[in-house]
Amino acid sequence: MNGQVNEPTRGPDTATGRPDARLEQLRERLAAVRQRIDTAVAAAGRQERPPQLIVVTKFHPAEDVRRLATLGITDVGENRDQEAAEKSAALRGLDLRWHFIGQLQSNKAKSVVKYAHAVHSVDRPQLASALARAMAADQERTGRAPLDCFIQVSLDDDAGGHRGGALPADVPALAEQLAGAEGLRLAGVMAVAPFGADPAPAFEKLAELSARLTAVHPGASGISAGMSQDLEEAVRFGATHLRVGSDILGPRPALR
Ligand SMILES: *Cc1c(COP(=O)(O)O)cnc(C)c1O
Repeated sequence: MNGQVNEPTRGPDTATGRPDARLEQLRERLAAVRQRIDTAVAAAGRQERPPQLIVVTKFHPAEDVRRLATLGITDVGENRDQEAAEKSAALRGLDLRWHFIGQLQSNKAKSVVKYAHAVHSVDRPQLASALARAMAADQERTGRAPLDCFIQVSLDDDAGGHRGGALPADVPALAEQLAGAEGLRLAGVMAVAPFGADPAPAFEKLAELSARLTAVHPGASGISAGMSQDLEEAVRFGATHLRVGSDILGPRPALR
């Protein structure tokens, strides 16, 4: 130390005193996305019920998640179990909620419930059963809170569309199963807008499905919808959870 006054604390790199350029970049991009959300919320008259922002950090390093936490982010999304398990373990001391948003094999349920606050991609009875079994074991051990489960719905017109999800007709039975499972909390519905199409009709359909669901399960009012490209439309149609990745973190590095 040479007695020089360091710049104000700017992030993880305080040991070297060097400003953290990545932190500043994330700060700016996050501010821009928050501004877009605020504008959409005001346009929809939803100031009393703003959506929860989940920053999708898949393919980006744990250090970026740490930077986001210093910027006030509390909720992050991941779509691969191994990557999410590693990052959440590396960042255990931080006050973060991990949202699993990707296609999930039933044999990964045990691993996912160890770190996940919510699973947004429950799309079939076998997966719901596997999560319930895994939660029963985990809750006994840790006493953790129930796992929030969103039913992922396919909004493609062709059945079993390529972006995954249950058919709308299968939602009521899956909802009954989740609502009746100890350790699971039926949180609502989730969807990804069909690729290359206008997202508005898709999100409108999701809002209708949500209304039908909450008529039977009043507590299941969550609507997880909206990504970088279409968050404004999602807010307009009532999204309660936005899953935004690339407009905050930049393009994802190529698949390893
Ligand atoms: C990757 C991903 C997102 C984030 O998408 P961006 O276009 O990067 O904002 C949202 N939801 C799901 C299900 C994803 O897989």
